[in-house]
Amino acid sequence: MSHVRVRFAPSPTGFFHIGSARTALFNWLYARHTGGTFVLRIEDTDKERNSEAFLNVIYDSLTWLGMTWDEGPKVGGNFGPYRQSERTEIYREYLAKLTAAGRTYEKDGAIWFKLLGERYEVFDEHRKKTVTKVKTEPTVIDDQIRGRVERVEDEDFVIFRSDGNPVFHFVNVVDDIAMQITHVIRGEDHLSNTSKHVELFKALGAPVPQFAHIPLILKQNGPGKMSKRDQGALIEEYQRRGYLPEALVNFLSLLGWNPGDDREKMPIAEIIRLFDLPGVNQSNARFDDKKLAHMNMAYLLEQPADRFVSLARDYFSRQTENPAAQAALAADPAYFREVMLLSQPKIKGVEELPAYTAYFFTEDFAIDAKVRDKVLGKGDPQARLRELIEALPAFDLSSDTAIEEGIKSLATAKSLGFGDYQSVARLALSGTNVGPSITGMIRVLGRDRTLARFERFLASVG
Ligand code: GLU
Repeated sequence: MSHVRVRFAPSPTGFFHIGSARTALFNWLYARHTGGTFVLRIEDTDKERNSEAFLNVIYDSLTWLGMTWDEGPKVGGNFGPYRQSERTEIYREYLAKLTAAGRTYEKDGAIWFKLLGERYEVFDEHRKKTVTKVKTEPTVIDDQIRGRVERVEDEDFVIFRSDGNPVFHFVNVVDDIAMQITHVIRGEDHLSNTSKHVELFKALGAPVPQFAHIPLILKQNGPGKMSKRDQGALIEEYQRRGYLPEALVNFLSLLGWNPGDDREKMPIAEIIRLFDLPGVNQSNARFDDKKLAHMNMAYLLEQPADRFVSLARDYFSRQTENPAAQAALAADPAYFREVMLLSQPKIKGVEELPAYTAYFFTEDFAIDAKVRDKVLGKGDPQARLRELIEALPAFDLSSDTAIEEGIKSLATAKSLGFGDYQSVARLALSGTNVGPSITGMIRVLGRDRTLARFERFLASVG
């Protein structure tokens, strides 16, 4: 066990979005890479904006993504409690320590942190008032990603508001000290707070942790940071849409990091092995939903049959308002399984499955008029269908290749090609011109269903 202790410190003020998940992931990866400890700390001092439901969103999302925490709510640990709303006494103790060191004062009912240095008054053009500044040396931050960053911290700041509640900067630093955090890995939007934090660490006589500020995630289109209101920003949405958590994790790992070569799809063990803070990019990463969808498809394709079928079943079960999904669930489970496995190599995401497979589960499927006109306008498709109906009872339906042999020998006997039978058969069986292989469809639908659909189609076109 290494001494590395990192923390993910979300404020439960909204939904769990891509940016939070990526910050959590980089902390988790660093802990797993170093054999350190991954702490979950809930920064819920802002009581108005916090809610129990939002907490569960954080727990559920982290768990779904496989980022288990070693210390924190639900699992405990030696440095608890892990919710800031339960740590008031600890903040009072640290405040007393700071006050004893002569580093606080009261003004306008609030408690201020006092910087060291000579004070002077200056008129602030921006705020249009006279403010007290402090002559200080620049604070130096040796950021593991940004490199050396200097910032002048020259104004005292509030650490306890007049309503008695502690301010973010103070509780954040106190907890990092009390929880013995060694590396603070967080979004670059916090870089501007870091000089305040460093001054607080020093004033409290604590070692300053290593900082690593990870680049922003830019929205897919246009300038600016991705926000939780942007399309595709919420983790729970991917969960709802049946995305594979490991695909999402792989995608998130590449938002600001790469393995040093151009590999993208990698097992999590490989990502853990290669992940390191110096490998994190300085430049911002851009969100790309097509890349994510593609990653998800690549993972779906390689899922073992049982897992794919159960993913499909879970997704269909949540589609309570979708008649196609409900019809599929009502079907024989062995048939459901065959239909799903036939579709596995053809779909981009699990969410496509109910519509993609609908005609397998009902005899009342629509015939696409455009496709019908096109298919019927070429050659003598009705005759081909009649020939298929005649030949089918003798076909070996045990495998796709056997079915292919059957159609091919029929075609050869009539001096025709496989394609002459394929499009009309597909239209009669599915009402469309897209779908799994025709041989797979015949095998899965079975002889009786296939014959019945051929007959019905012939009758309907006269
Ligand atoms: N609660 C802060 C946030 O949600 C955490 C900042 C930090 O990681 O230090 O952004």
